[in-house]
Amino acid sequence: MIQSDGWRFWLGWLAILLVLSSLGLGWLVRGLSLLLLLVILTPTLLTLGIRWWLGRNIVTGACPVCGFGLQGLANSQTQCPNCGERLQVTGGKFTRLTPPGIVDVEAVEVPESKN
Ligand SMILES: [Zn+2]
Repeated sequence: MIQSDGWRFWLGWLAILLVLSSLGLGWLVRGLSLLLLLVILTPTLLTLGIRWWLGRNIVTGACPVCGFGLQGLANSQTQCPNCGERLQVTGGKFTRLTPPGIVDVEAVEVPESKN
């Protein structure tokens, strides 16, 4: 279905272009062709550009604490979904934000009892 609709679309365009050029409207054909080219090329180039950017900036590696497979953006901070360790993405690999041997503990204030 989609395939035949696609063919109909392109044959329609081709027919329009042939009719216009036979009427001596070559400039219009060129303009429309350019427009069509832009409409097709812009999303393609955008997709390629985004893929190129992602390929350069997405880092695939393993969590240095638990070895869980991770993906993250270069030069950003992320958190391991497996062990919850906060990680920094530098030089194409994941490093711990807190140096080894230090346990990251959040302090919780305990209210004094009034006895
Ligand atoms: Zn982990």
